[in-house]
Amino acid sequence: MAVVSAGTAADFSLIGMLNFSFYDSKRKKVRLKQAGRGGIGTVLRNKKIKALVAKVPGVKGNLNNVVDLKAIMERGQRFNREMRELDDSQAEMRTKGTAHLTNVMNDYDLLPVHNFKFGNHPEADKIHGEVWKSKFTQGIPDGCWIGCNMACAKGVDNYLLRTGPYKGQSVIVDGPEYETTSSLGSIAGIFNPDFTIESNFYCDTYGICTISWGTILGFVMECFENGVLNEERTGGLKLNFGNADAAMELLHQLGRGEGFGVTAGLGVRKLKEMFIANGWGDPQFLKDIAMENKGLEYSQYVSKESLAQQGGYAMTNKGPQHDEAWLIFMDMVNNQIPTFEAKAEALHYFPMFRTWFGLMGLCKLPWNDVEPENNHETDEPAKVPEHVDNYVTIYKAVTGKDFDKHEMIRMSERVYNFQRIFNLRRGYGVRKHDAQPYRAAGPVTAEEYLSRQERYDKQLLELAGFDPAGKTVEEKMAKLREYRENRYEQLLDAVYLRRGWTKNGVPKISHLQNLGMDLPELIELVAPHQED
Ligand code: SF4
Repeated sequence: MAVVSAGTAADFSLIGMLNFSFYDSKRKKVRLKQAGRGGIGTVLRNKKIKALVAKVPGVKGNLNNVVDLKAIMERGQRFNREMRELDDSQAEMRTKGTAHLTNVMNDYDLLPVHNFKFGNHPEADKIHGEVWKSKFTQGIPDGCWIGCNMACAKGVDNYLLRTGPYKGQSVIVDGPEYETTSSLGSIAGIFNPDFTIESNFYCDTYGICTISWGTILGFVMECFENGVLNEERTGGLKLNFGNADAAMELLHQLGRGEGFGVTAGLGVRKLKEMFIANGWGDPQFLKDIAMENKGLEYSQYVSKESLAQQGGYAMTNKGPQHDEAWLIFMDMVNNQIPTFEAKAEALHYFPMFRTWFGLMGLCKLPWNDVEPENNHETDEPAKVPEHVDNYVTIYKAVTGKDFDKHEMIRMSERVYNFQRIFNLRRGYGVRKHDAQPYRAAGPVTAEEYLSRQERYDKQLLELAGFDPAGKTVEEKMAKLREYRENRYEQLLDAVYLRRGWTKNGVPKISHLQNLGMDLPELIELVAPHQED
């Protein structure tokens, strides 16, 4: 039996998430997995649904009566062998979960610090993957699904709560995952694992998305530091970066449906609009630092140095999450997609490929968190060809239908284009909705520019054709902004072309025909936009 439920904060906020229960047979306890993004918990509560309960007679290997069980088992054995032999040297998912990424992101200047101003921090060692390993219970296979040996669903057992309505109780906390180590930590300038664990528990319990909440926290803290907010406006909370007590109280306020916590629960877009309407702060500054697109808060990667990741975030159908495209390493670290065409190809293939996991109800992590030993010798290592073949094999073995890796992408493309047109029908889904806040692309403040001055000066000279010698920081920032914003527009052009869309980002009728998606209801919606 499993339960899907929203929490109390869904009544007061737009960032309500859903908890999905599962039985941890090793711990003999009920645990939870969260689906956080996009406010689906708020939607459930708004429809007056408290929970969904599902009961099945029993869980076993072949519930769906597959066509070729032997083929699936063979791929499963390969997967298990990779986990046994390669995980410890590649990802340590089995001991640290996704929290193994925290120090990696800090090392590559990609860990959000102070509302995405910076990508690393001297205190980040306090939230290093090894610290999380020491907090997580070890020696228990933490798979959230039967037979998953990647086993990344880590947990902190017997955590003694220090605050809130359950203060003094000893509980199990699911996670924290990588995203939460940043969102309930570094983004707010808080490098205290206990704060992260405790606020993770309460986000889950109140039913709000840890990623959205953290990005909201970063935004309100930067607003507080810059005088956009003050104690009078926050109801007495001193929301400076690093103030863990005030941050915890803000979360409890939301859980209780009180005070500035409820205001924060509206999310970054509505906060930004409210502050501008109230005349609090400089509107352009607020637009630049409000890390949202399509009303969804950014997830936890600094995208400034990866143009492809900027597109991966802001060109999504559902707002900036890393579910659709995570191209930072390909683009920035490995420089595998240097041209606009190569970036556009990646922003075509990977969002489509990743959409397929959602269509099938499969977890995405086993695809590329641990890779076959000889993967780097393949033609397209970023795609992990052997694992793509696993999925093709599994699809054919489950359904008995003919299928290949090309049909896989076309399948997703039909859905992806349908989603884009759905957005269009709701008054969105065109180029202007793919715009990003400037903080996602470059330094908004002089403090940010100066923190990476050497890198930015070099880029101005070598890439933008502008000699920074003798120029003021403001002059250099303006030139860098012009250069980066221009490149983002060029990226949009290249990606729309590759995706078969118009310059305004609307699917072309000819493309829908090619995909077999030229349904009359869709044609009617896109037809007026074909010349855009
Ligand atoms: S890899 Fe996926 S299925 Fe396996 S434990 Fe992690 S989240 Fe669950």
